[in-house]
Amino acid sequence: MLRTHNCNSLNIDNVGEIVTLCGWVQKTRDLGGMTFVDLRDRYGITQLAFDIKKNKLSCLEARSLNREFVVQVKGLVIERESKNNKIYTGAIEIEVNELTILNRSKTPPFTIEDNTDGGEELRMKYRYLDIRRKPIKDKLILRAKVSSETRKYLDKQGFIEVETPYLIKSTPEGARDFVVPSRMNEGQFYALPQSPQTFKQLLMVSGMDKYYQIVKCFRDEDLRSDRQPEFTQIDCEMSFVNQEEILNTFEGLTQHLLQTVKGIRPAKFPRLSYQDSIKKYGTDKPDLRFGMEIVEITQLCQKKDFSVFNESELVAGINVQGCANYSRKQLDKLIEFVKTPQIGTSGLIYCKFNEDNTTKSSVDKFFNEQDKKEWKEKANCKNGDLLIIMAGEKNKTQRALGALRLHLANQLNLRNPEKFAPVWIVDFPLLEWDEESKRYHAMHHPFTAPKNEDLVLLDKDPGNVRANAYDLVLNGNEIGGGSIRIHDKELQQLMFKHLGFSEREAKEQFGFLMEAFEYGAPPHGGIAFGFDRLCAIIGGQENIRDFIAFPKNNSGRDTMINSPSLLSQEQLDELSLDLKINK
Ligand code: ASP
Repeated sequence: MLRTHNCNSLNIDNVGEIVTLCGWVQKTRDLGGMTFVDLRDRYGITQLAFDIKKNKLSCLEARSLNREFVVQVKGLVIERESKNNKIYTGAIEIEVNELTILNRSKTPPFTIEDNTDGGEELRMKYRYLDIRRKPIKDKLILRAKVSSETRKYLDKQGFIEVETPYLIKSTPEGARDFVVPSRMNEGQFYALPQSPQTFKQLLMVSGMDKYYQIVKCFRDEDLRSDRQPEFTQIDCEMSFVNQEEILNTFEGLTQHLLQTVKGIRPAKFPRLSYQDSIKKYGTDKPDLRFGMEIVEITQLCQKKDFSVFNESELVAGINVQGCANYSRKQLDKLIEFVKTPQIGTSGLIYCKFNEDNTTKSSVDKFFNEQDKKEWKEKANCKNGDLLIIMAGEKNKTQRALGALRLHLANQLNLRNPEKFAPVWIVDFPLLEWDEESKRYHAMHHPFTAPKNEDLVLLDKDPGNVRANAYDLVLNGNEIGGGSIRIHDKELQQLMFKHLGFSEREAKEQFGFLMEAFEYGAPPHGGIAFGFDRLCAIIGGQENIRDFIAFPKNNSGRDTMINSPSLLSQEQLDELSLDLKINK
């Protein structure tokens, strides 16, 4: 046996036992007669004590140990003199009799400590060392827990895990595909799945009834800091269900995860229509950990000489509680923020409701005390509050206020990572107008069913057709999304037509699905959770990268294995690939 215990399993009850431990040298402290070593493994840390009087050889050897050497020690568990009550093993130490160096280590390029001196790039290049650090290791352990609890819950509900292929077919809808050349089929390519969408629907035609899969998906998108080209979904589909049953099942899953992993059980999740979400929060991913809702005051503002308001489709504000004391500089900073290209507005207007009952706004020339009183009432402001007002085209103004709302919440520390505020967003529009291609795109995907009662609008007013589609939003992040699907060939064909597919294109790309629908497709629907993000949020973080063992950097590279990389000419020839870049 290489070890009898791990580095987090001994305490005062084990005093007097002879044990063998293995692990990495975290640090050594030489105090003359005594040398102490912190021995670390995945489970924790145990202190080793080497007494020069009792075992000179081992003690001298211990002094020569460098950080990250791999060692095995045999010794007696004794009570420690100065105890550390922060760790499980803090009351004991091992009085070492035998020390064996199992492997040496170069000095690591950064310290293996919770607060390391290693920068992001270096840590990625030596990710295997980074994972030795507790904060990263703990995130991977949390991920494993979320994954096993997901399986437990879904298995209990009668879901069956089915694997679907990774080498599939490229379709132009959605994001860009990663493609894989086929050696045996010259000039032809597989695509890696952006999601198992069509396969899970086919499994419903097969009668699997309840399917799930914790599955890798691939999207070749320009990367933002929180996106990964390969990511994991909890992908699910159910037959003979309506939207209500799906929402309840997956609300149950989310509650189960929050309860088993975090020990909290949130009350029933609120539901918000897409329209209301945009109206109140300026986004379809509202963070409900705090209020600061958008309040429309158009009617109250357009009776005066202020042309900006008079010409605006929407005038609306947010009540920033307790911030009437914001300085000129602080307000200027907010103005600067809303003028950044990502928000793109020309500025904002403020009104302070001071504690002493006076008011001060940036439009005092145009509005009197009575006007401001009306705003105050409508926006539910109290003395001491700051009302920020924006005006302009409705959609843009709502989005800008939504962004400002989040910005202010960050500034005011209203986004407590230990608080969880889930919400279902329902009644999404079926279609979304795309200015660039001058046509409608499916807001969710082309298999999403329109609401029956809105079907009549499909020809006259496609932009207003609502879908049986829903998202689960947690703390301002979309963690899941899905829909009731079309299960009828005619309706699916009609949808393809509205999405600008010619009959030939639809047949070429999705003929297999439409054919399957002719063999008794049951009504069905489903959802997919972004697993990496879900883990990050449950772990109280926004960034998903540390919840992935070996993530890619912002340019889609794995700097540890140095990928992507070039192929040899032989490989290219075998794949019949003639690259311009090599010429
Ligand atoms: N396949 C969809 C997605 O990846 C989710 C779903 O509709 O189930 O977004």
